[in-house]
Amino acid sequence: MIIVLKPQTSQEEVDHIMKKIERLGLKPYYSKGEQASIIGVIGDDSKLLDHPIEAIAGVERVMPVLKPYKMASREFKAGRTIISVGTESIGDTKFTVIAGPCTVENEESMIRIAKGLKERGATFLRGGAFKPRTSPYAFQGLGKRGLEILAEARRVTGLGICTEVMDVRDVELVEQYADIIQIGARNTQNFNLLKEVGAAKKPVLLKRGFATTIEELLMSAEYILSNGNQDVILCERGIRTFETATRNTLDINAIPVLKELTHLPVFTDPSHATGKRSYVAATSYASLAAGADGVILEAHYDPESAVTDGVQTVSLETFSEIMATLGRIAPAVGRTV
Ligand code: PEP
Ligand code: MN
Repeated sequence: MIIVLKPQTSQEEVDHIMKKIERLGLKPYYSKGEQASIIGVIGDDSKLLDHPIEAIAGVERVMPVLKPYKMASREFKAGRTIISVGTESIGDTKFTVIAGPCTVENEESMIRIAKGLKERGATFLRGGAFKPRTSPYAFQGLGKRGLEILAEARRVTGLGICTEVMDVRDVELVEQYADIIQIGARNTQNFNLLKEVGAAKKPVLLKRGFATTIEELLMSAEYILSNGNQDVILCERGIRTFETATRNTLDINAIPVLKELTHLPVFTDPSHATGKRSYVAATSYASLAAGADGVILEAHYDPESAVTDGVQTVSLETFSEIMATLGRIAPAVGRTV
């Protein structure tokens, strides 16, 4: 349920409404907007039947949220979610570029990649320490050592770290090292894992599963939000279709659809969406033009030697070109890079 406040409502009145909601055993979330301020309410709405909220000073009107996802819905919040990570703001005017190798390989290569990306304008560094591999015989990632290497790369370059957690047992560990915790496409509906990162104190980049609908993705975001973590970034990373020319199909539609349905920042992953490095630039540009708040890209100084996903990994030279072109597109859509 949503309580829309009158424009002139005072802070005392807001506090009074919030306390009243809490006393009824419900959870209020206040957001201040430019036009209207809102209190989103989570819990059993029927408790409000005997307590006419509309009668309280400062309340303009009360509306139900008809969507199955509540906290993720656009209506639940005044304005968009902007996530502060260090000096960066995700979901604001600046288009965020997260880049790095698919996998953390070793300290030397990670530092070299991180320095190269920092020089070329990346906003965050990515790299998997825990890798979800189709084959149990394939390289599974460096685990804790990988996280330590990422932390060293952050110390050297100042770039914040985005890295994946696959297992509830590792959330505490990954939370200690990551600036953004990534949930991969194979875990979009791992509800126990979502609850666990919902209790974490770091932002979560939630990838869309290759067979999850947009509504299912938003329901997954709802798990994280309702467990206490308000900093969720949604990431379209390509879905499975009949098309075999690319690894997946980037659902570009998901960007405007999500922008309409939710206040959360929306990213794409052109690397996993296409599976081929020559398509990464075009799909990155399309993402920015279509209204995405950022991209997560796989980049390496020597993609051919990359331990995993080399085929879709761009070189540092290509990364420079991508950044330059993003910089030229950005003003046309009211953004900076
Ligand atoms: C990744 O980003 O490293 C990854 C495994 O992506 P996805 O979960 O989208 O397949
Ligand atoms: Mn990869």
